[in-house]
Amino acid sequence: MKYSALQIFIQGLTGNKSWKPVWREPEPKSGYDIIVVGGGGHGLATAYYLAKEFGITNIAVLEKGWIGGGNVGRNTTIIRSNYLLPGNQPFYELSMKLWEGLEQDFNYNAMVSQRGILNLFHSDPQHDAFVRRANAMRMAGADAQILDTDGVRELYPYLDFENARFPIKGGLLQPRGGTVRHDAVAWGYARGADSRGVDIIQNCEVTGIKIRNGICSGVETTRGTISAKKVAVCVAGSSSRVMEKAGLRLPIESHVLQAFVTEGLKPVLPGVVTFGAGHFYVSQSDKGGLVFGGDIDGYNTYAQRGNLPVVEDVCEGGMAIMPLIGRARLLRMWGGVMDMSMDGSPFIDKTSIEGLHFNGGWCYGGFKATPASGMCYAHLLATGKPHPVATEFRLDRFKRGAMIDEKGVGAQPNLH
Ligand SMILES: Cc1cc2nc3c(=O)[nH]c(=O)nc-3n(C[C@H](O)[C@H](O)[C@H](O)COP(=O)(O)OP(=O)(O)OC[C@H]3O[C@@H](n4cnc5c(N)ncnc54)[C@H](O)[C@@H]3O)c2cc1C
Repeated sequence: MKYSALQIFIQGLTGNKSWKPVWREPEPKSGYDIIVVGGGGHGLATAYYLAKEFGITNIAVLEKGWIGGGNVGRNTTIIRSNYLLPGNQPFYELSMKLWEGLEQDFNYNAMVSQRGILNLFHSDPQHDAFVRRANAMRMAGADAQILDTDGVRELYPYLDFENARFPIKGGLLQPRGGTVRHDAVAWGYARGADSRGVDIIQNCEVTGIKIRNGICSGVETTRGTISAKKVAVCVAGSSSRVMEKAGLRLPIESHVLQAFVTEGLKPVLPGVVTFGAGHFYVSQSDKGGLVFGGDIDGYNTYAQRGNLPVVEDVCEGGMAIMPLIGRARLLRMWGGVMDMSMDGSPFIDKTSIEGLHFNGGWCYGGFKATPASGMCYAHLLATGKPHPVATEFRLDRFKRGAMIDEKGVGAQPNLH
């Protein structure tokens, strides 16, 4: 069923009785060409682009819970392509371009809103670093502007320009950055993949990976054994646990990241703002709630809820740039498990086991990567070669000394 204004009109006149389920609930078959493990944003996007761009439709996406229940439905919805390093920037810019056409492409309203993202700076050296980043972005075809204090004040009058402990000296603005309704991305990709013949199987946990003589031939699941020519793991925060089933250790740690939303307020923030002297980012949802977050909790865990020291740290960050936030009432907070890699950059690669592929290490920036990650993983699975913008995301890069350390903090997953 194609969604359109006419369809809404027709359904409205006929009592909304003939809307179809957004995807089927098929029983798993005994075998597929490709099994994608993990029905998050990246797994569903991979299946979608495999079907749409490469014509491969004999695919199952196996999800242990429900579609949208993982990080794809837990993030703070920020998209951007404001990266510095050549290994990263073209990939995130491809993602941004895909976001720009996504809703028309998969015929689903994902509320893509290019309301801009502003990274504040508070010192002269920070200004210089942001100018460098802005130049790198422009050279890779992205958009970037440097604002001074007055430029920031014009856009964001409710920030603290008078008494701030860290005075706002300006900001790096990417006008094409913004927000997207996170769970709608999962639903849109699921619908697009399903309509091309992909089986999306919920409540189906992968419990083992079938390997014989170094070749992967399928998976064991809570709904039986399923064979496949290729297995594509894409489970974000559960990466280490799933790849352990194939006997592989990853350069990844899992940490919890929390997010917060307040009661609805009148419009105070036109776009996304990040604090430059601490870890805090905030935007305002279309319902009016301030949606914000900060650092990961500083210990390894698979729990989807965090602890109070980080809550305090996030609130301090908010109060430092925008004291009005202290008067808003917090409605909800939650957590998601992050696959933090050692250099803060992801992996889209084959593994040492033939037929077994891995996509992960997205840290807490994988939502904005969803379209490009799906496209590049699909490219790798279909052609056997990395996509031109994802050639650096290799599992052996630490052995080769070819880290992509965007923040320059070294092998400290909790600092990326
Ligand atoms: C609080 C928070 C805020 C964030 N904010 C942002 C942001 O503003 N911008 C941004 O770019 N990124 C953000 N992120 C990061 C982003 O959400 C993730 O990097 C990204 O969603 C991960 O990819 P995914 O969507 O495929 O993951 P998920 O949705 O987690 O998908 C993985 C799926 O694998 C499934 N799975 C796990 N184990 C198995 C198994 N054994 N068998 C079958 N299925 C399995 C899980 O159930 C899950 O559904 C944030 C994350 C959190 C938690």
